[in-house]
Amino acid sequence: MKDLSINQVCRICKSNKLTLVFKFGPQPLANAFLKSQRDFQSEKYYPLNVYFCRNCHLLQLIDIVSPKVLFKDYVYVSSTSPLFIKHFEEFARKIVERFSLKKTSLVIDIGSNDGILLKPYHKLGIQVLGIEPSENVAQIARNNSINTITDFFSLLLTDKIINSYGRAEIITATNVFAHINDIDEVAKGVYNLLDTNGVFILEVPYLIDFLDKNLFDTVYHEHISYFSLTPLLTFFKGWQMRIIDVERVSTHGGSLRVFVTKENSTHKISSLVNKLLKYEKSKKLTNLSTYHQFAQRVEINKLALTELLSQLKQKNKRIIGYGAPAKGNTLLNYFGINTQYLDYIVDDSEFKHNLFTPGSHIQVRSSRFLSIQKPDYILILAWNFAKTIMDKYAYLRNKGVKFILPVPSPKII
Ligand code: SAM
Repeated sequence: MKDLSINQVCRICKSNKLTLVFKFGPQPLANAFLKSQRDFQSEKYYPLNVYFCRNCHLLQLIDIVSPKVLFKDYVYVSSTSPLFIKHFEEFARKIVERFSLKKTSLVIDIGSNDGILLKPYHKLGIQVLGIEPSENVAQIARNNSINTITDFFSLLLTDKIINSYGRAEIITATNVFAHINDIDEVAKGVYNLLDTNGVFILEVPYLIDFLDKNLFDTVYHEHISYFSLTPLLTFFKGWQMRIIDVERVSTHGGSLRVFVTKENSTHKISSLVNKLLKYEKSKKLTNLSTYHQFAQRVEINKLALTELLSQLKQKNKRIIGYGAPAKGNTLLNYFGINTQYLDYIVDDSEFKHNLFTPGSHIQVRSSRFLSIQKPDYILILAWNFAKTIMDKYAYLRNKGVKFILPVPSPKII
């Protein structure tokens, strides 16, 4: 299997006006946790570099790791986080209300993972169908009675779905559209599968939050597009679809929820769409210099955090990490943080326990370890759950343990 390909042109506009703006260099896959020390030598590295399209302004990766390598057996299980369960319950409730869904409605979720978003609809008796290529997580969904097809989304698959289930009133794609290289195939499939008046709703990490909050660590091989509304408008227009509404949501450090329909649907376009476009203009997202400045801020962040950790180690402080999310691995590897700095990392997902982080080779343990070996400092790698983590471990703070937030610049709490 060829596990790496290189795009010569922009994913959206097919122009070759691609400029390198951020170079991470060769990096291991952020979710490729290692089972034992024997695996360290054979670890694979792939280029991780970010390009800006000077034509349609999409920020993107052009070195594409095969989705089969990335997703066939996947360690990310969405329902591990109670915050995400709540987020998707609220999302489903809003969709049911806004689009007056009935028991006969069909809701399809692309990249449905363990069924986190489909569960609340299923509870209401609405027909659901998940599309999830990762066999292990798709099985979790099926164990929870969520009807799931184990496959990658494609036009061909939509023909099969239409034959068996009919067309969908709602199609969702949360945190997966930015993971797919061939988004033309997604547009074709969605257009085919959607009812005339149906709505396609996607959630993608939002470029403005990425830049404003210095979320460079969300760059890894799975995240191949860094979207703002501007290139998305161009994209959907090209496929006879239009964006009718947008919403900023807080997940993953700040995301954009985008509502898309066929060009001839009866849905009205919300004034929020133009408002957000104007805002994006004011943020200079179409200027190359915006991205060069971002790269400089990351270097400052790197220097500040590594200096802080070095000083703490000189004082013989015990430091551990909290959370082993994929983004944590980008941060650890790019900043060169390894077992010299962190004794171990704790994570709430039992699927990661006893594994080693890719590249930095730090062991992941259960949070039970915190009470056995009290650290002096906890570096929060899962910064999107910082409040929950600090609330949960308030008793450790009372015993003098301090937390370190790594981005946008290191902060001790
Ligand atoms: N939608 C869930 C959420 O928001 O928590 C899961 C997001 S997870 C980051 C991305 C999911 O999309 C993975 O479960 C992955 O296996 C799946 N996926 C990746 N490429 C896909 C494709 N081409 N079609 C359908 N699902 C895909």
